[in-house]
Amino acid sequence: MRKSILLILLLVVISSCKKNTQSNYDSDVDSDITTNATKKVNEFAIIIHGGAGTILKENMTPETEAAYKSKLEEAIKVGYEILKHGGSSLDAVQKTINVMEDSPLFNAGKGAVFTNAETNELDASIMDGKTLNAGASAGTKTVRNPINLARVIMEKSPHVMMAGTGAETYAKEQGLSIVDPDYFFTERRFNALKRVKEKEANNAKPIDTESAYLEFYDSDIKNYKFGTVGCAALDKNGNLAAGTSTGGMTNKRYGRVGDAPIIGAGTYANNNSCAVSSTGWGEYFIRAMVAYDISALMQYKGLTLQEAAREVIQKKIPELGGDGGIVAVDKNGTMVAEFNTAGMYRATMNDKGELDIGIYKE
Ligand code: ASP
Repeated sequence: MRKSILLILLLVVISSCKKNTQSNYDSDVDSDITTNATKKVNEFAIIIHGGAGTILKENMTPETEAAYKSKLEEAIKVGYEILKHGGSSLDAVQKTINVMEDSPLFNAGKGAVFTNAETNELDASIMDGKTLNAGASAGTKTVRNPINLARVIMEKSPHVMMAGTGAETYAKEQGLSIVDPDYFFTERRFNALKRVKEKEANNAKPIDTESAYLEFYDSDIKNYKFGTVGCAALDKNGNLAAGTSTGGMTNKRYGRVGDAPIIGAGTYANNNSCAVSSTGWGEYFIRAMVAYDISALMQYKGLTLQEAAREVIQKKIPELGGDGGIVAVDKNGTMVAEFNTAGMYRATMNDKGELDIGIYKE
């Protein structure tokens, strides 16, 4: 009798220890999510965006639409192949973004938009959901693939973020591809800057007043901002990663840096929740800490990825006055593309190799 009482007591002690270990690691809310999380949707998955904005079918020629779709497909397939063969989500994210950075179609790398000073200043960031390591670079003018710089900053330096000429020196030291700033010149982006400047000249107001600030970001200008690229992926080892790369916003001034290189705003990844890449009006995405907020809503409030993304993109951002979208994948391989703009270039591939490409609201 005594023996069986002792045995029962021992079992009670062991089970409470187990519970404590779980709750030291995850909060009580997390324990619930962990229960949901056992339902794997995809063993691995990848989702990308090529920017959100006023992308309307009526403004698009069939040729342009086809060009975007084919580049999105080419890019996502690079990441998919890496994941399929057991590669890491970090590699998939980086290599997928490289394809879009090398294309003039997107506002990243080769197709970066112009600043008011007629230069191209590029921002990027990447995050590893397993270790919560992250790397970011801002305002570089000579690094061909800023996402590669973000990755070496994460993996080879003791820092998280580098900016300007210092970041360029580091890129050179690390043997990354360095280009003449002219490499980023594209007629289309330069013309976009010219149009914005003309509009501004006809409307001249000092930039430091609230109304001028709004003027600076009027709907016409916003038409020129889409095209940032990003990727979120889950690999076969259950590791999440996300990355974002951009030229920022057309006509940006004074070393302006948007959300893309800000960890928690433009990019976030955490194996306990999700991986997110943002695109949109950077000032608002920084203030709303969009990518981290989605992860936090999942981790601390038990929301699903879809619910969390909807809350931030359809409620929080518009209430502040901003616009844009995100792509994300959670630890179960559920993929979500959420945007409050007319369109967002996007694509997904699941573990069965099924490809889904979208541009407009469906
Ligand atoms: N978020 C970027 C920025 O504000 C722009 C974009 O996503 O299109 O720099």
